[in-house]
Amino acid sequence: MIYKNYPMVSRIVFGRGSFNQLDEILAPKRKGRNAPFIFYVDDVFKGNHWLTSRITLSYKDKIVYVPTKEEPKTSQIDQLVEDIILEYSELPSGIIGIGGGIVMDIAKAVSLMLTNKGQSKDYQGWDLIKNPAVYHVGIPTISGTGAEVSRTTILTGPVRKLGINSDYTPFDQVILDPELTKDVPKNQWFYTGMDCFVHCVESLNGTYLNAFSQSYGEKAYELCQEIFLSDSLSEEESQDKLMMASWHGGMSIAYSQVGVAHAMSYGLGYLLGVKHGIGNCIVFDHLEDYYPEGVAMFKKMKEKHGIELPQGICAGLDDNQFNTMIDVALSLEPLWENAVGKNWKTIITRDVLLKLYKKM
Ligand code: NAD
Ligand code: ZN
Repeated sequence: MIYKNYPMVSRIVFGRGSFNQLDEILAPKRKGRNAPFIFYVDDVFKGNHWLTSRITLSYKDKIVYVPTKEEPKTSQIDQLVEDIILEYSELPSGIIGIGGGIVMDIAKAVSLMLTNKGQSKDYQGWDLIKNPAVYHVGIPTISGTGAEVSRTTILTGPVRKLGINSDYTPFDQVILDPELTKDVPKNQWFYTGMDCFVHCVESLNGTYLNAFSQSYGEKAYELCQEIFLSDSLSEEESQDKLMMASWHGGMSIAYSQVGVAHAMSYGLGYLLGVKHGIGNCIVFDHLEDYYPEGVAMFKKMKEKHGIELPQGICAGLDDNQFNTMIDVALSLEPLWENAVGKNWKTIITRDVLLKLYKKM
C-alpha cells in the first residue's frame, strides 16, 4: 500500500472581521510594481462598499468581477489567463478569489494555468499539473463546498466536467471570515450547505473511509445537524459553524472520495447546467437506497427550512441526452468505487442510472 502524501492550505486566518487584514496579509507577497494582485470577486458584490472598500488596489492591481450564473468552463479559464498575459509584462504576485465555489475555483485554475503551458482542458484529471501555481488566496463568502480547502478546481470542459486535481491546486492562504456570508439568500445557503452535508454522508458511508476522513466527516456531520436541525444557534454562531463544517467536510473527502450524489450531479451539471449545490440536492433526494439515514435527515432539513426542490427536470429528455448524463456519471470511477466498492460495475448499470435520472 502506498499512502498519498497530500499538501494542505499553508496558512489560514479565522474570525469575524478577519477580512480587514487582507492588505497586511498580501503586502509581503508583492513581487514588484509590474506584478499585480488580481482579485476575482463574485459580481454579486459589485457596488458593495462594505466588502470592496477593504480591497486596496496599488500599482497595477485589478478587480475582475465574475458572473456566477454558470459554473466555470475551461475556455473561460484560458481566456482569463490570456487576458492577464496580454495585459501585464510579468506574472502576477498573486491571484485572490473572493466568492463561493465558482470564484474560488476560478482563482485556483487561473493561478495554475499561468505557470503551466497549454489549455486547461488538458489538465482535467489527477496529477497532470507540472509546475507550481502563482501564489493564490481563497476567501469564501458562502459556506459548504469545501473548495477553500480542497486540492481540486472543478471545470466543465469540451468533453467532461472534471477537476484539475493536483498538489499545486490548494490555496497558499485562506481567509475564513464568517461575517462575509451574512447576505447569502436562504435557498442558496441551503443548497451550498447541503453540499457539505452530502460530502460527509458520502465520505462516511464510502469504502475508502479511514480514521482520518472519519474524524473530519463526523465533526462536519454533527455541525450540519446542529446548524440545520436545532433551534439553539444565533445567526452568527450558525455562520461560524457552517464555515468550519465546510472546512471539515472538505478535509474529510481529501483522504477519501465523494459518491453517488456527486457522480450523478456532475451528469446534470454537464448536460443541463444544473449547479453543483442544487444538483446534489435534486439527486440526493432520491438516494434512499444508497444512503438511507443521510437521505432521511436531508428530508427533515428540507422540510424544516421550507425548501422546495425543482421536480421533473429530466422529464423532456431524449435517449441521447440520458446517455450523455450516464456517460459523464460513469466516467467518475473513483466516486463509484468509493460508494459501492471494487465491483461497482456489476451493480451500477446504465439501467440503474437511467431509472434514477428519470425520477428527477
Ligand atoms: P456559487 O459560487 O455558485 O455561489 C452561489 C450563489 O451565491 C451565487 O449566485 C453567488 O453570487 C451567491 N453568493 C455567494 N456569496 C454570497 C454572499 N455573501 N451574499 C450574497 N450572495 C452570495 O456556489 P457554491 O455552491 O459556493 O459553489 C459551487 C461551485 O463550486 C461549483 O462550480 C462546483 O463545481 C464548485 N465546487 C468546487 C469544489 C472544490 O473542491 N473545488 C467542491 C465543491 C463544489
Ligand atoms: Zn460537492
